[in-house]
Amino acid sequence: MIEQPLNGTQLASKKTIDFLSSTHKLLIDGNDVLSAAGETLRTYDPALKIALAEVPNAKAADVDAAVTAATSALHGSWQKMSPMDRSQILLRLADLIERDTTWISEVESLDSGKPKHQIAAVDVRLAINALRYYAGWCTKLAGETIPASSPELLVYTRREPVGVVAAIVPWNFPLCQACFKIAPALAAGCTVILKPAEQTPLSALILGRLALEAGLPPGVLNILTGDGATTGQALVEHPGVAKITFTGSERVGKHIARIASATLKRVSLELGGKNPHIIFADGDVDTAAVTAAGAIFFYAGQVCSAGSRLMVEAKAFDRVVNQVVSEASKLKMGHGLHTETTLGPLISEDQLKRVSGFVERSRDTGIEVVTGGRRGQGTFASGSFYEPTVLTGAKDTDGVVSDEIFGPVLAIQTFESFDELVKRANTTSYGLAAGIWTSDVAKAHAAAAAIQAGTVWINTYNQFDAAVGWGGFKQSGYGKDNGREGIEQYLQTKTVWVNYARG
Ligand code: NAP
Ligand code: MG
Repeated sequence: MIEQPLNGTQLASKKTIDFLSSTHKLLIDGNDVLSAAGETLRTYDPALKIALAEVPNAKAADVDAAVTAATSALHGSWQKMSPMDRSQILLRLADLIERDTTWISEVESLDSGKPKHQIAAVDVRLAINALRYYAGWCTKLAGETIPASSPELLVYTRREPVGVVAAIVPWNFPLCQACFKIAPALAAGCTVILKPAEQTPLSALILGRLALEAGLPPGVLNILTGDGATTGQALVEHPGVAKITFTGSERVGKHIARIASATLKRVSLELGGKNPHIIFADGDVDTAAVTAAGAIFFYAGQVCSAGSRLMVEAKAFDRVVNQVVSEASKLKMGHGLHTETTLGPLISEDQLKRVSGFVERSRDTGIEVVTGGRRGQGTFASGSFYEPTVLTGAKDTDGVVSDEIFGPVLAIQTFESFDELVKRANTTSYGLAAGIWTSDVAKAHAAAAAIQAGTVWINTYNQFDAAVGWGGFKQSGYGKDNGREGIEQYLQTKTVWVNYARG
């Protein structure tokens, strides 16, 4: 592993420094406002553990104000605007994000620790694509006429927005997750209150400004920074919110589903994953191994789709392990603002403790740590860096195989037969994604059908597209982001009966 220097903030542009030192406010009804209670939260650069900015911690009174603004916009400006005009605003917002890609990536990199060049190429691109894709849906939300079995009755349906949406997102893809939620919600005619994670609130504040610049009427998109227990909880409890769209942990997702049931809110949950990445010996094993390394080490494994359990057909096992270890050695640990960096820090010291806990428990049970297994050394010891880590010899019941780690830690296992593989791959309680590498078409499709996951990639991994639904099975949640299914959850159907009998 190659180590990059750590002087990240010195590389930040003046625009970023000015933004960080400005007074950050909530966006409610098109106005920048401080939290009514005046409380703030700090957000940190996880590489250097220095405070970057203070943002408001929105309380119940702020949530109430945001819901009032969003409700008024729902029945006012946003409802009255033509679908074509709404579409144009979403397209303009996409253009503005594209214009500001460099700056947004810099702020997001400082806030999250992710490499800036990866944010620009992946997160910002996906955010823009979501807005452009759903801009097209604004004008295509047609109802239908239904041939009811009575004469002289016209029955038709209208596709109407469900109402005010609260979007609650995590820290690992802040801007991108926000746009996965707001793009379909706004296209459906809903109004939105966005709550970013407390560790990464900054890109949401930029998004709010750009939305106003794009011409979004006041109150259509409101941004409430704050912590989950305060701001998030108040949104989930508020009777004026019709739907919660959530991406985050299984624990919080289940809590939200319980609370939301009291007011019968619609809920969609994109939760965790423990994704089996499977390599059969008959395929392109070398490409598979290189991709498998990328699938776990990208963004230091803090990705819900991370391929953190690699299952390799026995005869290809040694070759794959060697190649993954070789790929790990090429990663460049460093600050996200360095152009060479490919492995940034974990989001926080707590996250690092969680990740290293999995590895330490593995050592205690005789699992081999083939490479890594320590926090960053030298200058990196002061940030939340963790070495890319490969483990072998873990059983299916070991935590590193059954639990989501959310760090750069890969457990590599062997399998002998197809039937054994499918049974073992499905032992996880999650069902988000899986990857399969084989040159045998029949085997590929049979495995894709048998594996319980919302997404299966064959001879590729981590492909995402605004047009393609994304969401899990089992404990990975329900509801989809992206694609046609992604907008359905923001719509409700009204049936209209018209009696056209004459006389
Ligand atoms: P988290 O703790 O569940 O937080 C997610 C969001 O929920 C944050 O904004 C958090 O606020 C908020 N929250 C916490 N408690 C709340 C409450 N009582 N009411 C309402 N909101 C509340 O998850 P995380 O640790 O940030 O993110 C990692 C998890 O997200 C992983 O499990 C990962 O797999 C999952 N994830 C899934 C996908 C997917 O597409 N399936 C994508 C990315 C991540 P604060 O952070 O501000 O407290
Ligand atoms: Mg931060």
